[in-house]
Amino acid sequence: MALRDLIEHSSKRRSILKALLAGAALPFRAVLPSRAQKTEPSRIIKDGMAYRRLGRTGLLVSEIALGGSPLPDWDLLLRLIERGVNYIDTSHTYDNGNSERTIGRLFKAVGRDTIHVCTKFHVEGNWSEKSIIASVEGSLRRLGTDAIDVLAIHGADRAEDLTDERLLAAFDNLKAQGKFRFRGLSCHSNHQAVVAKAVDCGLYDMVQLGTNVFDIQETEKNVRTYGDYAGESGLRGLIDRAHGRGVGVIAMKVLKVGGRRQDLAAFQAGGVSLIQAMLKWALDNEKLTAVVTEILSYEQMEEDLGVIGRPMTAAERAVLFAHVAAAKKDYCHMCGLCRAACPAGIKTTEILRALAYADSYGKGQRAVREYSEIRPEKSASACLNCGSCEKACPYGISVRSKLRRAEALLG
Ligand code: SF4
Ligand code: SF4
Repeated sequence: MALRDLIEHSSKRRSILKALLAGAALPFRAVLPSRAQKTEPSRIIKDGMAYRRLGRTGLLVSEIALGGSPLPDWDLLLRLIERGVNYIDTSHTYDNGNSERTIGRLFKAVGRDTIHVCTKFHVEGNWSEKSIIASVEGSLRRLGTDAIDVLAIHGADRAEDLTDERLLAAFDNLKAQGKFRFRGLSCHSNHQAVVAKAVDCGLYDMVQLGTNVFDIQETEKNVRTYGDYAGESGLRGLIDRAHGRGVGVIAMKVLKVGGRRQDLAAFQAGGVSLIQAMLKWALDNEKLTAVVTEILSYEQMEEDLGVIGRPMTAAERAVLFAHVAAAKKDYCHMCGLCRAACPAGIKTTEILRALAYADSYGKGQRAVREYSEIRPEKSASACLNCGSCEKACPYGISVRSKLRRAEALLG
């Protein structure tokens, strides 16, 4: 879509959404910057929303993208689309498939081309080409669409899976039937191996990874912007590498684990929002396309969309780094080093992630489900209490006490 078309369509989109919000049922077509050509600018700001290119896919994606676990209520969802949000991240498991069903309803209400959807499938347990195809066909049914914009592996954590013949056969089969447009993956741990392989093998168009201001290292106390970051975990290097090869990068976990549920009062004095500072810190990296975030209230919508086009201030930077200094001892970076060091093969990183859903996000059910998906011999109950995990952790996390808590709370 050319820029002039985007400008014309933008006012049409807003007037039709206004009608929908007023109760009218008016399906309409392609009004957002969805199928832009690669020769156009890499960033466009229009009507209060900024859009960036998702690597070689050419998709123009709103800098604030919507997380689908859970989605906001219907009216707020429409408001977010009206405000220019045009990318939703979901998965076959989110809200037992209801996240995809709601997006399907949204496609009918506002037009399929208005929104880019990324949905995911798992390669865990007893998976096969057939199980992947069945999962994706279920997603297509719930979404009520013929094709998914970005089809991604959910939580890829083994580099070897990315080129597994069963997986590639499933992708080829689905692609031949036109059931998705671009390949991607989300990655919660073992980024160094997984993201590097995704970029280097040339088969993936998008990677979605967790990154936030806690990725700043001790030695970088004077860091001012994301652009200065070249931390030990190497995430910055991975993002550079992906960008250089035309692989789009979407950031998640930018508000750090449970950002909205932390007691942030001490850091918000003087009208500074720590949430906005965290978002700005990520968006400062122009090699990232967008930040996926949950938005569940009008207040959160205003807070998150309020960062568009506004650089970080000195006051925001100060509260941001004060918060990091105060909270970093308890923040797990999901680097996977503790898991690699464990002689018993305990899935420490996954267990800490499950625990964080309960402790930081207030998502008890999801925490229990994620913990139950870890086989007993890899769960905290099989821990030998040897301490190797804590020696391996570069951030000084008390891994064993977290494992004990996970077993007591979620086991
Ligand atoms: S203490 Fe438990 S989890 Fe940590 S390395 Fe030893 S066996 Fe693994
Ligand atoms: S506990 Fe430490 S080593 Fe383990 S994943 Fe978290 S940050 Fe990495």
